[in-house]
Amino acid sequence: MTIRKQNQQTRHIFGPVPSRRLGISLGVDIIPYKTCSLDCLYCECGRTTDLTAERRSFFAPQRLLEELAGVLPTIPRLDHITFSGSGEPTLNSDLGALIAAIRKMSRTPLAVLTNGTLLFREDVRSELLGADVVLPSLDAALAASFARINQPVPGLDVGRIVAGMEAFRGEYAGKIWLEVFILKGVNDGEDDIAALGAALRRIRPDKVQLNTLDRPPACPGVESAGFAQLERIRRLWPWVPVEIIKRAGRREEIPAFSSNLENSLLNTIRRRPLTIDDLATLTGKDEEELRRYLEVLEGEKKVRPVIAAGRIFYREWNKGDI
Ligand code: SF4
Repeated sequence: MTIRKQNQQTRHIFGPVPSRRLGISLGVDIIPYKTCSLDCLYCECGRTTDLTAERRSFFAPQRLLEELAGVLPTIPRLDHITFSGSGEPTLNSDLGALIAAIRKMSRTPLAVLTNGTLLFREDVRSELLGADVVLPSLDAALAASFARINQPVPGLDVGRIVAGMEAFRGEYAGKIWLEVFILKGVNDGEDDIAALGAALRRIRPDKVQLNTLDRPPACPGVESAGFAQLERIRRLWPWVPVEIIKRAGRREEIPAFSSNLENSLLNTIRRRPLTIDDLATLTGKDEEELRRYLEVLEGEKKVRPVIAAGRIFYREWNKGDI
């Protein structure tokens, strides 16, 4: 549930970043690196150094609000202001006050990326009611798999976490986009997928975002699930909308890959930067398919997503890009 940092960064604000899940997103980081109630095998931020479930105040909220007030006027358009970053945001006991204060400063929808482990707490659920979209994670509903993939702080019980998410669904009118991260051989067994499916029936998220590794994780040796496997899981949960958000790393992962389409995309983008909507109109292909080609080309440093005039454009990769 982490978002990588780029562009401008103050102490607590980073971005805006083009986010596949949240569009143009300005990140708000309210947790010191790396404080979390989990130590997930796949975490892109590295190993958890402060493994805790204790909520506390980490800094004066006013400091973040002043940073945000300085940054917001410099950004023409945002899709979300997103609580994210290098740890679990619900561990910050000022979360509710920060959500309320930011809501007064900006009409941009507020999103919270959370591992969901503290949703069994009434105070955490009540503070999150002020957000427009909450994106919790749930990678396992069986205790052994939860321990394996998420390596929680002692005392966290996955049954209680699922009950907390279910309670939150009953109280919250905003959107819940629940992320499930699948690792090959870790949480992809039939019993795991069935238990997760049963939990999803109870939680009733607005959608499930199915993900797997696309970058080096905190722990070496863990393996990504393939598109075919994620597709199979999607079919096993017909009662909930499931979106696969795994990035395509290799051409072989693109069904019915066409080199003609790839070349045509590259040549078009070389002439001028285009949005994914533009590319869909030009090629007649759907966005999901085009996104997979663009992800491969991005991985090979041939194209790059950039934010301009409040939209996400794909342009040719320049020599100076990092
Ligand atoms: S919940 Fe997992 S992925 Fe998210 S910051 Fe904590 S350890 Fe990393």
